[in-house]
Amino acid sequence: MHEFDVLIVGSGLAGLSAALHLAPTHRVAVLTKRALNDGSSQWAQGGIAAVLGEDDSLQSHVDDTLVAGAGLCDLAATRFVVEHAPEAIAWLRELGVPFSLENGELHLTREGGHSQRRIVHVTDATGAAVQRTLIEVVRRTPGITLFEEHTLVDVITGRKLGLADPACLGLYALNAATDEVVTFRAPHTILATGGAGKVYLYTTNPDTATGDGIAAAWRAGCQVANMEFIQFHPTCLYHPHAKSFLISEAVRGEGGLLKLPDGTRFMPAHDARAELAPRDVVARAIDFEMKKHGLDCVHLDISHQSPAFLQEHFPNILARCAELGIDITREPIPVVPAAHYTCGGVLSDLAGRTDVPGLYAIGETACTGLHGANRLASNSLVECMVFARAAAQAIAEAPAHAGAELPPWDDSRVTDADETVVISHNWDELRRFMWDYVGIVRTNKRLERAAHRIALLDSEIQEFYAHFHVTRDLLELRNLVQVAELIVRSAQARRESRGLHFSRDYPSLAAPAAPTILVPPAA
Ligand SMILES: Cc1cc2nc3c(=O)[nH]c(=O)nc-3n(C[C@H](O)[C@H](O)[C@H](O)COP(=O)(O)OP(=O)(O)OC[C@H]3O[C@@H](n4cnc5c(N)ncnc54)[C@H](O)[C@@H]3O)c2cc1C
Repeated sequence: MHEFDVLIVGSGLAGLSAALHLAPTHRVAVLTKRALNDGSSQWAQGGIAAVLGEDDSLQSHVDDTLVAGAGLCDLAATRFVVEHAPEAIAWLRELGVPFSLENGELHLTREGGHSQRRIVHVTDATGAAVQRTLIEVVRRTPGITLFEEHTLVDVITGRKLGLADPACLGLYALNAATDEVVTFRAPHTILATGGAGKVYLYTTNPDTATGDGIAAAWRAGCQVANMEFIQFHPTCLYHPHAKSFLISEAVRGEGGLLKLPDGTRFMPAHDARAELAPRDVVARAIDFEMKKHGLDCVHLDISHQSPAFLQEHFPNILARCAELGIDITREPIPVVPAAHYTCGGVLSDLAGRTDVPGLYAIGETACTGLHGANRLASNSLVECMVFARAAAQAIAEAPAHAGAELPPWDDSRVTDADETVVISHNWDELRRFMWDYVGIVRTNKRLERAAHRIALLDSEIQEFYAHFHVTRDLLELRNLVQVAELIVRSAQARRESRGLHFSRDYPSLAAPAAPTILVPPAA
């Protein structure tokens, strides 16, 4: 058994930031299911929002966030993030992140929904630069022990052990190198496992985004909130060999036109702003055309721009498409909308505390109330950092709790699975029906169909889990099915269309605005 002061699950921006804040005073373990940089943080392109410009104000950033959130942002959480954002950027600069500069000052770009220039960035690969810096610092920081290839199975709580104190006491993790489930004990555990984009057939997220922390927290007795609000990016490259490659919205900004395979434009029929309509409007229009015509994808055509222009503005997109045999200077790019960001998650307070004492949730895993019904661009990386610091501070100030003996993982009654094909088949089925029935446009009937299939899959997975040795694939599928159930239940509870949730049966807003909070059965 391993013993630490704090366990952090996840090595994205949220997890690594928390580790660095805690390391001077605590023995910290960071567990991550693949390599340290396998998370969404690594893939973030645009940048990080913070009020740094002379003409900008905290109130303006708050207001922009509230508008995007369609009436559901928590004002205290929004103010908290916006007020602490500038110091989070200063902290990254101290660590050595090489932000893009102009005349020696941070270069600020502007993104959709922001009324001012307030996005700091490292060219068009901000996340990779931030993660590179943090990983270097973490590796040389005493007090942090790294456990790569360790997948959280479940957190261990006093409640699960039948103790009077329901607190979180540690966790079980599957070590991929030995195939053994290892016990970790600590008075504090932080879940920073990212979002759940992989529950959908098409996603911009990396393979690690399987909602593990959300599902584990739910099983541990935590409430989850706003799971119906999944942000879909309108244009992800559609190609059998291109997993999750984002075609930036800047392509439409620079004149890219959306077309059906026969070359007909369709956006003007959906919105007066055509290709420049907001993200959710464009995603809905593409979804409508794909369903209407039975298409696998639509086309995004920027070939009327010169090759020199494309090389200068979109070098990454040009190169990635060329690798796959698509010459964007001469032909359109096949695209589909794709699940991009999980706005909901584990209900947590301004210090990342959940309902279970000793258990914290930060980053995309958490629902702090900042994003409401729709996330404002570039607000998520900053949320990771602000709540990582707040959780670290709360842990430093928390009274010590007694702890308890933890039973080792018991796999004496399970055998090796005979048919692992069941797992890959169920995984494919889940992702496809979630896409078809619980995607961008929802109806009561589609949600009912999805709920029915989820119940069937759940019983199969539970049986598998009870009888066979756990594998990473099985754990991820179990979590995805759980998260899918939470998304469908939340979508069914929301009898209106608000922000990212659009229902054909309830096309308008219903007052008053309220978050969807699900309470776990045994809590
Ligand atoms: C393509 C793309 C572009 C984006 N661009 C931007 C942007 O420009 N600006 C912005 O603000 N946001 C952006 N986002 C969103 C932002 O990147 C994420 O919300 C943010 O990085 C989440 O950070 P995190 O630390 O919560 O999770 P992640 O960075 O996803 O890290 C999660 C970690 O948890 C680990 N993990 C998961 N499950 C387990 C388990 N069971 N056991 C152990 N470890 C586990 C993963 O391996 C990973 O290390 C973008 C997202 C994507 C996908």
